[in-house]
Amino acid sequence: MDFYTCEDKEIISECILKGHLSWSDEKIKDLKVKIKEELKKRQKNVCCYCLRSFHGEFNFVIDIEHILPKHKYAKRMFDSNNLAASCKRCNMKIKGRRIDFLSGIFNDEHTPYHKDGYLFIHPNVDVFEDHISYIHNQKGRDIIVKYDILNNSAKGKFSYAFFRLEKLSVHTYNVAQGIVSDEDEWQGDPDLDDDDDNIAETFSKIEDSIEQLISVFAQ
Ligand SMILES: [Zn+2]
Repeated sequence: MDFYTCEDKEIISECILKGHLSWSDEKIKDLKVKIKEELKKRQKNVCCYCLRSFHGEFNFVIDIEHILPKHKYAKRMFDSNNLAASCKRCNMKIKGRRIDFLSGIFNDEHTPYHKDGYLFIHPNVDVFEDHISYIHNQKGRDIIVKYDILNNSAKGKFSYAFFRLEKLSVHTYNVAQGIVSDEDEWQGDPDLDDDDDNIAETFSKIEDSIEQLISVFAQ
């Protein structure tokens, strides 16, 4: 993103040095607001993975999504190509810390954003609509939501399965009562997109203590 000011860039380098937990630092709060607004604009206000609109009827919270998860790729934490706006369902409930969407040719050092490094539709280097057609139509209280994989696209198939897009499909036209499960139900704290980081921290502290104990006993 070209909108980072010199001051932003300084803060960003500091954060990268400190590691991924610095994402929760108070001092980047305003910067995160700016990033989120920029991403929403860039994506035309839809989730980067399921394409559902951020407007109006969907009252879910929007996350800044790190496509390469920040716990593992901290230096990519502020890369424009690695950032996207996503719904909580896709980010927290489904993707989390997974990296099983990376292909065998993924190369973090030389070509981190080569589209062939990603098995799913990358929000920034691929175009969702080239792989999956998404239709959302509502008339009165009848809704149709459909995802169709285009031209047998391998990325389309992978994204469809990975993000369980069939679960978001709805068809209540001509149906007396449509059963619509609440796919957006999510129990975490909406302000905390780092729940799992906190848990991971706790575990690594416990591991450290155990290691210390073992070394004491070994002496
Ligand atoms: Zn989504």
